[in-house]
Amino acid sequence: MTCVLAIDIGGTKLAAALVDEAGSVLRSATRPTPRTDVMSALAALIAEVTEGGPRPQAVGIGCAGPLDLAAGTVSPVNMPSWRGFPLREEVRKLTGLPTVLAGDAQCFALGEHWLGAGRGSTSLLGIVVSTGIGGGLVMDGAPLLGPTGNAGHVGHMSIDPYGERCECGGRGCVERYSSGPNLARWALDNGWSPAAGRSEEKADARALARDAAAGDPVAVAAFERGARALAGMIASTAAAVEITTVVIGGGVSAAGKVLFDPLERMLDDVAGLAFVRAVRVHQSTLGVHAALAGAARLAWHHTPPAL
Ligand SMILES: [Zn+2]
Repeated sequence: MTCVLAIDIGGTKLAAALVDEAGSVLRSATRPTPRTDVMSALAALIAEVTEGGPRPQAVGIGCAGPLDLAAGTVSPVNMPSWRGFPLREEVRKLTGLPTVLAGDAQCFALGEHWLGAGRGSTSLLGIVVSTGIGGGLVMDGAPLLGPTGNAGHVGHMSIDPYGERCECGGRGCVERYSSGPNLARWALDNGWSPAAGRSEEKADARALARDAAAGDPVAVAAFERGARALAGMIASTAAAVEITTVVIGGGVSAAGKVLFDPLERMLDDVAGLAFVRAVRVHQSTLGVHAALAGAARLAWHHTPPAL
């Protein structure tokens, strides 16, 4: 049995799995991300998944960004104890295996392309819409990572050069319009209060989605506004690199129709050229497992299975 070791590192959870060349998970485990000494927790997790199992041929890691692929280092926003942390080298030393690293959203895109909603597509943009907006590109079946590994940062594409200042320092980034907190912020600023009468309700994107589904006009408008920004970004990306397929995951994608229906309409309005209009948008089918699947694909891409 040949397999690779896939690792997904996020601010709240570490996950690891042994995955065969067909994408089947042979063994897997998760544990919460500790505040400090993340590497010890990761080493224990890797031991749990690998001990007594088939020996993996390579390791693929998807990690929250920012990262520097040239240096093999990561500085995840939600993990203050890792700043310029040499993750690729640490895991390579620990396992003695070839180790490949990419961003978690890039791994999401790879996973959806390999086993999920983007299966069989030629070129794909994966978008993770949650607290922020991440993305990754798969071109002709291969990840497009860029010189320092930051290709696919579609959340910080400007869809309005006169728009609001973004936390990244840019202006008019799609994240300012379409991320969960920004959808809720705009709705609150425009008179929405979550589930009138239910005071214990949190004013977040989940509550907003439920109210939009129930027909609350401000909640509906918030999703339409967010969808229009996403449509602008998707059409621009399609025009630049001719993607055929978009897969959207992350917490906000769970909103379902209240996000995807206006997104189809907005894309129809925004897109012009035939190859841009031909882009198909799908909801993620792998959900939280997509990044781990993509990390496995990354490892297989680096170390093709023996014939
Ligand atoms: Zn930005």
